[in-house]
Amino acid sequence: MIVDTHIHLDDDRYNEDLDTVLQRAREGGVKRFIIPGADANTLDKAVGIAQKYKDVYFAVGIHPYDIHQFDSLEFEKYVNHEKCVAIGECGLDYFRLEGSDEEKEAQKKEQKRVFIAQIELAKKYKKPLIVHIRDASRDSKALMLESGAGEVGGVLHCYNADEELLSLANEGFYFGIGGVLTFKNAKKLVNVLPKIPQEKLLIETDGPYLTPTPHRGERNEPFYTTFVAEKISELLELPLKNVKELTTKNALKLFHIS
Ligand SMILES: [Zn+2]
Ligand SMILES: [Zn+2]
Repeated sequence: MIVDTHIHLDDDRYNEDLDTVLQRAREGGVKRFIIPGADANTLDKAVGIAQKYKDVYFAVGIHPYDIHQFDSLEFEKYVNHEKCVAIGECGLDYFRLEGSDEEKEAQKKEQKRVFIAQIELAKKYKKPLIVHIRDASRDSKALMLESGAGEVGGVLHCYNADEELLSLANEGFYFGIGGVLTFKNAKKLVNVLPKIPQEKLLIETDGPYLTPTPHRGERNEPFYTTFVAEKISELLELPLKNVKELTTKNALKLFHIS
């Protein structure tokens, strides 16, 4: 089986056909689904989905694009829920910073504050982190090491194929591999993949975004993780069965699910 470790099922693009999307995935062997927290406004919806489907779990957290929501989030309301398996997605994303250099620095500082606060919560509640990093590898790594994120570990998703982050494998961090691996221009990720310890590999869709080839341009969905598994199998020259087994074992271990 496959565990989709990062799928935004609370996104409006699944409103119409969520049952079908999940059923299609299950028939393709995708048997567990984790909804990362990102936007506080859809957290209740994520909890509702996790309550409705036995094989769906969720995480509570605020994405770097939505940090203004953090201080008013009723964290405790979610973190003690029996289907809450992680904190995140939290992290640093410098891709969309706007304004003057000074304004950009202020935004970075605020992103760091909210990321550190979520790492502290993860340590307090002993939950792994779902970390989103984009164009901010050096700052993210330094911050994670300084704040002792390795105490709980987690997954680096949206991993932009940066060798600099590989050493976080030694700090209990896993690497979420998604549809980007199948893109023609994914050279960096293709080169980094064999350097990731196999006991630290995870599979994710990040749906509805980042749809793998041959479905690029469409809405992404958990069934398409099968294309990611096939690509990993091809690149690592491992039987597909082994790729599914090892990534599933890793996911169940990290998120303490069965
Ligand atoms: Zn993300
Ligand atoms: Zn995401």
